Amino acid sequence: MAVPKRKTSKARRDSRRANNSKAIAPNLVECPKCHELKAQHTVCKN
Ligand SMILES: [Zn+2]
Repeated sequence: MAVPKRKTSKARRDSRRANNSKAIAPNLVECPKCHELKAQHTVCKN
């Protein structure tokens, strides 16, 4: 198993997360029927 040789520093870790982290709900699309934002591939409640 591959194991990192060096511990990732707090600064590097936080920097990576800041640049790399996606939004909590990035897959929001507008419903074609009611034009509300909804998660992709889900059925809208309307
Ligand atoms: Zn809808």
